[in-house]
Amino acid sequence: MRPPVTTPLPDLLAGAGEVRDGAHGHRVTFSPKVFIPLTRLCRDRCGYCTFATAPARIAEPFLDREAVLAIARAGAAAGCHEALFTLGERPELRYPVAASWLAEQGYGSTVEYLVAMCALVRDETGLLPHANAGALSADELGALRAVSASQGMMLESLRADLDCHRGSPDKAPERRLATLEAAGTLGIPFTTGILVGIGDSRDDRLDALEAIAAAHAAHGHVQEVIVQNFLPKPDTAMHAAPPCPAEEYLWTVAAARLVLPGDIHLQAPPNLSDDFGVLLDAGIDDWGGVSPVTIDHVNPERPWPALERLNEVTEQRGYTLAPRLTIYPSYTLAPERWLDPAMRFFVLDLSDAEGLARDASWCSGGEIAPPELLETSPVGRVPMAMPSSESPVAEILAGVLLGQEVGEREIVTLFGARGSEVRAIAAVADQLRTEIVGDDVTFVYNRNMFDHVEELSNLRSELAQQLITTQENTFRSLSRELHDDFGQILTAIGAMLARAQRRTPAEAGADKQDLREIQEVTQSTLEKVRSLSQSLHPVILEDAGFEGAIDVYLPTFEKQTGISVHYEKSGTSRELDRAVATHLYRVLQEALNNVVRHSKSPSAQVRLNYTPDEVVLEVEDRGVGLGKGGGRGMGLVSMRERAELVNGRVEFLPAEGGGTLIRMTVPAGVV
Ligand code: SF4
Repeated sequence: MRPPVTTPLPDLLAGAGEVRDGAHGHRVTFSPKVFIPLTRLCRDRCGYCTFATAPARIAEPFLDREAVLAIARAGAAAGCHEALFTLGERPELRYPVAASWLAEQGYGSTVEYLVAMCALVRDETGLLPHANAGALSADELGALRAVSASQGMMLESLRADLDCHRGSPDKAPERRLATLEAAGTLGIPFTTGILVGIGDSRDDRLDALEAIAAAHAAHGHVQEVIVQNFLPKPDTAMHAAPPCPAEEYLWTVAAARLVLPGDIHLQAPPNLSDDFGVLLDAGIDDWGGVSPVTIDHVNPERPWPALERLNEVTEQRGYTLAPRLTIYPSYTLAPERWLDPAMRFFVLDLSDAEGLARDASWCSGGEIAPPELLETSPVGRVPMAMPSSESPVAEILAGVLLGQEVGEREIVTLFGARGSEVRAIAAVADQLRTEIVGDDVTFVYNRNMFDHVEELSNLRSELAQQLITTQENTFRSLSRELHDDFGQILTAIGAMLARAQRRTPAEAGADKQDLREIQEVTQSTLEKVRSLSQSLHPVILEDAGFEGAIDVYLPTFEKQTGISVHYEKSGTSRELDRAVATHLYRVLQEALNNVVRHSKSPSAQVRLNYTPDEVVLEVEDRGVGLGKGGGRGMGLVSMRERAELVNGRVEFLPAEGGGTLIRMTVPAGVV
């Protein structure tokens, strides 16, 4: 709605504040950015400009790629998200030194070089380029779209007869409007604005704002409008001109909020007003770029307010401050329409779920700790700091304190809280906790599951390795037995039979002797085959059951190792499931093997006890004990695995009189 130029300022302020709150709530944004002044040479001669200069005053006509990268890297290190390229318009058409510098570098124009530097900064630092290159053709805008997240050009004024623009062909209104239109056709998130106080009237400004609104109505691409006040600067043609009066500036800001559609964000630079908080009263919802690294190259005499001060002023007026990207959230969240495919990853990487800038490097599952959002008082309480009563968060919290339940919509709003709103939520939660359960805080100690899983994984991989080694050892042992024992025995039998064949009838007595030897050798071979077969698979378990197998195995063990074994059975015997019997038998073998290999004990005890609920097998020695491993050796791991396969357990305990006690317990249910 275009207000009459005679509308009193208070009326405009009231209306503008209402429009802003309705369209953008209580959030005010800013863009942490670094300025890259690619060239300060310009073919135009704007009367207020202190940025453009002459070739003689600068060392090089353009920043070279190293200088560009150095600034960008400093910005990225300081937490910036945006690389704002500021530059004069087409200096190569005015200054031969600019044209030859570009030609030497292999570029045909400033815009061509700008495209290359945007890509370089994006690829090397991840910063999102915003190209502010003035009045451009559709082709130039299109080339920049592929390497930038947004672009901009101040419309400034539609007045063609302003003294300050005499000698500035790029400031012709029709060229500016054509650029604005082409950007819309190409789907470029676009920033534009007006300059107030350069000889323009209120009607002139309203005309320019209406032209911007019309372009946006056609394409939806105007993401923000900057309303900037003129301030005279030394060494410029307008150094003696009066600055834009503060009241006139406020009137224009508020009028812009009323003329522009609600979805266009309204920005006013905080460093160009002494009391910048009043700009919030005039309906702005964005402070623009604030750089922790570089000065405002266009207004070098006006430093940026510190971020803390910006936050303080914003919160004093009941608003919350949030960092944004150079591309606004509604455009970020529709990348297919507004971003070249080459830019989408970079924008996504820096944006949060709301399309705003990520303000911390923390991410779920990452190694960086989340930021601390709350400051606590010395006694640990979160200070109560309710946001403006009109803020949606404050409204929800007031309801909570009255006992109302929050629904999905309210929860989503609470998740979007920032700054003082977060502190207010924490304070209300703290108050509710105190009311409901007092000040006692309990906790549950949880095992560190990640460490446990890693430990298990390591054990399993060690076990797999051990199983492979064991398998190889078994094959090697089998091969040796077959070659050394059975091979030689069969060779000897063959030799005796051949010798018998060659004998005459008179030598029959010698045959008898050979036959006796063959019989003895065959008997001993049979025993070896049985022993080998038993070690490969205890067939006796199937024939005689677990207890029968023990009765056969223990004497054999004593005979083979020289270790005496005392065996004792208690409880009522029962038939065991085949798997249980096999695992009990293997654990018995492994436990006795440990006695042989590690204990240095001359004797061992084996106890088998049947209780109503369990079967318990114990092997105890009088040796040197478990040592540092505490039951983690691979034989012990394999025993544990076998027990778990039948829902049992294995314990490795120090024996009462010294030595080791290995106990396997199997529940009756699987017996
Ligand atoms: S076009 Fe921009 S850089 Fe060039 S003189 Fe005008 S204001 Fe300065």
